[in-house]
Amino acid sequence: FYGTGASVQKDDPGFKGHDMLAPFTAGWQTTDVHPLIIEKSEGSYVYDIDGKKYLDSLAGLWCTSLGGNEPRLVAAATAQLNTLPFYHSFWNRTTRPSLDLAKELLEMFTARKMGKVFFVNSGSEANDTQVKLVWYYNNALGRPNKKKFIARSKAYHGSTLISASLTGLPALHQKFDIPAPFVLHTDCPHYWRYHLPGETEEEFSTRLAKNLEDLILKEGPETIAAFIAEPVMGAGGVIPPPATYFEKIQAVVKKYDVLFIADEVICAFGRLGTMFGCDKYNIKPDLVSLAKALSSGYMPIGAVIVSPEISDVVHSQSNKLGSFAHGFTYSGHPVSCAVAIETLKIYKERNIVDKVNSISSRFQDGLKAFSDSPIVGEIRGTGLILGTEFVDNKSPNDPFPPEWGVGAYFGAECQKNGMLVRVAGDTIMMSPPFIISPQEVDELISIYGNALKATE
Ligand code: PLP
Repeated sequence: FYGTGASVQKDDPGFKGHDMLAPFTAGWQTTDVHPLIIEKSEGSYVYDIDGKKYLDSLAGLWCTSLGGNEPRLVAAATAQLNTLPFYHSFWNRTTRPSLDLAKELLEMFTARKMGKVFFVNSGSEANDTQVKLVWYYNNALGRPNKKKFIARSKAYHGSTLISASLTGLPALHQKFDIPAPFVLHTDCPHYWRYHLPGETEEEFSTRLAKNLEDLILKEGPETIAAFIAEPVMGAGGVIPPPATYFEKIQAVVKKYDVLFIADEVICAFGRLGTMFGCDKYNIKPDLVSLAKALSSGYMPIGAVIVSPEISDVVHSQSNKLGSFAHGFTYSGHPVSCAVAIETLKIYKERNIVDKVNSISSRFQDGLKAFSDSPIVGEIRGTGLILGTEFVDNKSPNDPFPPEWGVGAYFGAECQKNGMLVRVAGDTIMMSPPFIISPQEVDELISIYGNALKATE
């Protein structure tokens, strides 16, 4: 019954599904599953069509970082709509907001010096763009065989053909004839679930780095183009990296001239308590994917930040190889860029990273206090992102029978009591807006605690 809530059925007892083929939605054509229709948002809350209020613990889809009604973002969009609602960025034509946003992003990303920014409309498009940039780059360098990508099990990188191939979740592969053959997957760095008896976090990281190296050597380093990773895995269950993981992984990819792509679609702009996930884990990427909190979710926009080494090759070779023939009508859409510029301005003015850090221990400690619950295997997270995994006997090897619907029951209890969480099987995910107040965090913890009691 998760997914019920607002009652279209109240007005429409003969509800037989709706007209949308909805994303990631089961049962859209059945008679008893009604969509929860959200109509309005305000700060950390959303309201359904019956006026019921919910604390939005996932910030929309990990994106509405400034909450549901930031007037400055509405004003930025309106001003741009009134001036220039659209112009493209093809063939050496472009707009002021896209130029300004590119400049701002290059200044903000300080984990290492970067060269250029390529605009897209989503995280999936960002990661598709990464693959084409890397292929173009290796073709330009005369190494046409260096084309394979290594991603990780349980990674989420999007749902277009290529980004779904990079994604390491079976649900995105089954029935679609993917992953594409040029994508390989290596270990998910989930210490609690996958460490060997007696293995420390550092030893676990060493083993995973060795497995990555073995995979590169087995395939041939001359065939491996890039490795892609989220600093903290998001949709795969909120999985922060174990100690020394990225240090060891980066040493391996560097050794074999494999590019490092940081998928910062969820982690960037303060979510982890640093401006970028790369800052938190000392990652020096060659390419970075951004979306979501770039515009606080108010307008669709994504971006790829490209190292100077790669952008120089793309620029200098494009006369010989032909232009980088890739992009979208709405790449650098002026309204999206104007909203993103204002979003970044607000992050700076309100010291958003400090704001997240000032509230994150209340959020993390308050929820992790439930770790002793008999149905909780692990509660994990950092900053304002957190995952809860339900298992039997406190053991990762004892999942509850799927037909029990433990996670779904917990999610429905939260929803009934005025909070929306993300449910994926028996894993619950939360990533509240950065603007959440201490009182709202307390409310979130209280609803979570009551739902947990009811589920136990
Ligand atoms: N990369 C990561 C890490 C994500 O979490 C997501 C979406 O949740 C994507 C990429 C895909 O983004 P989009 O849904 O905007 O295509």
